[in-house]
Order: sequence, then structure tokens, then C-alpha cells
Amino acid sequence: MPHQGSYINGKWITGSGKVQRNVNPADLSEVVAEFPTAQIAEALAAIAAAEAAWPMWKAVPAPERGRILARAVAIARTRIDEIATLLTREEGKILAEAKGEVIKGINCLDFCGGQGYRLGGKVLPSEAVDTAAYTIRQPIGVAGIITPWNFPWSNPCWKIAPALVAGCSVVFKPASATPLTASCLIEILEEAGLPAGVLNMVVGSGAEIGDTIVNHPATKVLSFTGSNPVGSRLYENGAKKLAKVTCEMGGKNALIVMDDADLERAVQGVIGGGFGSSGQRCTATSRVLVHTDVKARFLELLVAATTALKLGNGLDPTTQMGPVVDQDQLNTDLSYIEIAKNEGLKLIAGGSLATSAGNGYFLEPTIFDGVNPSHRLFQEEVFGPVLAVSEFSTYEEAIELANGVAFGLSSSIYTKGLVTAQRFTQDTHSGMAHVNEPSIGGEAQLPFGGVGITGVGDREMGEDGVNFYTQIKTIFINYSLSGERSMFR
Ligand code: NAD
Repeated sequence: MPHQGSYINGKWITGSGKVQRNVNPADLSEVVAEFPTAQIAEALAAIAAAEAAWPMWKAVPAPERGRILARAVAIARTRIDEIATLLTREEGKILAEAKGEVIKGINCLDFCGGQGYRLGGKVLPSEAVDTAAYTIRQPIGVAGIITPWNFPWSNPCWKIAPALVAGCSVVFKPASATPLTASCLIEILEEAGLPAGVLNMVVGSGAEIGDTIVNHPATKVLSFTGSNPVGSRLYENGAKKLAKVTCEMGGKNALIVMDDADLERAVQGVIGGGFGSSGQRCTATSRVLVHTDVKARFLELLVAATTALKLGNGLDPTTQMGPVVDQDQLNTDLSYIEIAKNEGLKLIAGGSLATSAGNGYFLEPTIFDGVNPSHRLFQEEVFGPVLAVSEFSTYEEAIELANGVAFGLSSSIYTKGLVTAQRFTQDTHSGMAHVNEPSIGGEAQLPFGGVGITGVGDREMGEDGVNFYTQIKTIFINYSLSGERSMFR
């Protein structure tokens, strides 16, 4: 069992705040962890430790910083099953998905380890005679990193690994619902040889600990993933102190089913994208836009596949959908089901608690038909297993519907037509676009993030994700021996 506390200046500490009990969302009788939360004084100590460690850490050559991540990869690979099991018990997603998440996080550590050899700027020609001109990238300073509960392992990996290889020190606040999975990453990086103070984790409330990290003058770069209300406020507060900020927030991702789509595959995609992780992915498919000519057959297949899904504890290998994360999320999901009913939408699957699935937060995978842009279910993120179905007759209508929301994280189309697929990748207003696969997924080497109200700031992951934690310096070396810049005329 990983440590249950905060990690400050290379030491595990018992927070002085109240003890938080985390229960297994699939089995409310199981207490997964008892976390003594930290208070503001401990958050300040963590920031001070990161500030003190930064000059030493930024002086470590980048390839050597990367080598620590490479050692973390090797250690993490020996713990995949253990971390995945813990993740399932703490967050609820089924074991196969948890394993996938652990591996994705390891890939991020791996990719960033290699970036230690590649961190650099550009050599460019100068206007001046006998002058070398080039740029270098330098770490910004202390990074404040705040993560949500739905990717409790991989999201910290995809933020912390690039910060570390770039040469930033880190103060990290995991989501209160999932600190135990996050603690595994700290343990692994400690074992891999990360010096004390370079990475600090403070477990506690968003309002207290999160605000302290965000508003402190030392945290000059902030990376947040979570909901729009919290992210928007964080962005404002970061702007007040002129910090560099990236916020990745909600989604309302559309999946278009064209009349030439392979309907069986499209149904598979909607089931995986809409109900995988109980719909609790930022990239989850939450709107299905289906062509009038194939709608009846498509919905027949979709409803049959949805009602056949086996709900239960994610540790059971036969389970296909786990619980939602906690009572608050369940209440939100149920409230949207009520809203949809009150707006007159047609319930075609689910809609009720799945009490027979176990003593947990189980909700039937739910589908509403007849949804249009005036409905709240079309516009607002539910973050649960609740799908909205709309209908269109032309490609242009489909794109208008897909783009008719304020969010813009991911999108998808099922079609056999090359021209339609190609046009879609150009026309969709989203940071990521998928053809003939669900709207979910991200890879360590590829930029991840959204447009519209989904995301502000640089993309995460890939080279951009590392560059975010750096600032560019432009250098001129004049070897003319004239003492001044001599421009070519
Ligand atoms: P949330 O906004 O409630 O919390 C996210 C984090 O912010 C938590 O660690 C929380 O403790 C912290 N926090 C809360 N108040 C704070 C404050 N005042 N100052 C600083 N930090 C504070 O989100 P959640 O419920 O944990 O996660 C679900 C949301 O995350 C969904 O909207 C989902 O779409 C989004 N998400 C987005 C992406 C993406 O890449 N776009 C990925 C995963 C999740």
C-alpha cells in the first residue's frame, strides 16, 4: 500500500488537517485509504522546498534529468498490475482501462526521459555580419500542478514528467478523491533518484491547498486539468501574477455517424467512447449525431449493446462498466437525467440507478434521443454515462451540430468516404479529431488539448508539453571583434 500523506522536501509527512476517508466506489464498505490532509502551512512548506531545490535541479544537465525519468519507467513497469488494481479500487474504472492508463502514464515518463537529449532551441541566421544567433530553452521555475480524479495516474505523469525534464521543480496537488494512486508516482520518482525538494505533493482541499499553490508568487508556471469553473478562476488568478498557465477543462464531444458508416463499428465506438470509464473522460463521446437514413437501425443496435453491458466491480474481469466516482458525481448525473426528462427528451436506454450491480455508485448507461442545440444535454458536460442523440440529413448539418457547443476537445466521424473524412478533419472545431474510432485517446508523443472553452494555454504532451515549462532566450554572439553590431547593407 503506498504512503498515505503528503510528500514535502523528500519526506512523507502526516498532514495536520482532517483525515479524509476514501472508499471504493464499487464497494462502499471498503475504505481504500485514510488520508490526513495538509493545511496551508504545509502547502507553503512544499512551495518553499521547491523554491530552494530549483537552482540545484536546473543545473543538472537535461540528459541526466531525463535519465531519472528513464529509471522511473523501469520501476513503474514492475508495478503496473499493483497500480492498476489500486486505481480501480480508488476511482472505479475497470481493470483493463486502469492498466491502459498506467501504461499511458509510463509512456509519458518514457517520452519525457528521451526529451532530456533533445531540449533545445534553434540556430537561425542573423542580419548582422559575423554574428551567431540562436535560442535556448530554460526552465521557468517552480511549477504548480493540479490534477483531477478521472486520470489519477496518467494525468500527473503527463504534467510532472515534462516539468521535471525541463528543469522545473514541482508542487503538485492531486484530486482529493484519488491521492493514493498519485502517491505511487511520487514513490517511484523518489526511488528513481529524484533529489529531495524537486517534487512535492500536497494532499488537501482545492479551495485551500489549490488556491495557495495558484496564488503564491513563486509558482511561475501553472498547469491545471479539471472543470471549467475551477479552471477559469485559476486562469484569472494566474494572469493577475503574470504566470504562464495552461488549463485543460471540459468537453462535449460529438461522434458523427454518416449514412455510409459501418454501423456495427460505429456502435462499438459509441459504447467505448460514451460508456468506457463510465463516461468520465474529458474526451468521452457525449453526443451522437446520426444520419436520418441509418438512424433507426443504428439506434436499434446501440440500445441492444448498451443494455447488454455488464456493470459491476471493475476488478471482476467480466465487468464492462464500473461505477461513477462518488456521490457528488452520481447526483450530477441523476440531475441531468431529470433535466433531460423535464425538457421532453426521449429516454431510450437506462436512466436509473443500477442497484443490482453492487453496493456502489452504479448508474445504468443512459441514452436520450431527440436532442437539439437548445437542450442542456446538448450543451453542458455531464461527465457520466449519459449520451445525447441528435439527427441530421447532410454533412453540413452534421458539422454545424458538432461545432454548435462552446467546448472543443475531441470529435469523431464514422464514414467510409475519404472525402468526407478529410473534410471533417478540417471542419471540426476541436483540438483532436478521430476517423472511424471513438473520440477518446491520447499518446505521449502527440499534443493533447482543446479549443474553445475547453482549453487555454499550450498543448500538453509531446514536445509542446515539455516546451510549456520553459522560456526562450535569444542569444547573439558577435565574433566580428568590432565591438558593435555591423548590419549587412
Ligand atoms: P475539479 O475542477 O473539481 O477539480 C480539479 C482539481 O482542482 C482537483 O485537484 C481539485 O481539488 C482542484 N481544485 C478545486 N478547487 C480549486 C481551487 N479553488 N484552486 C485550485 N485548485 C482547485 O475537476 P474534477 O471533478 O476533479 O475533474 C473532472 C473535470 O476534469 C471534468 O470537467 C473533465 O472534463 C475535466 N478533465 C479535463 C481533461 C482535459 O485534458 N481537457 C482531462 C481530464 C479531466
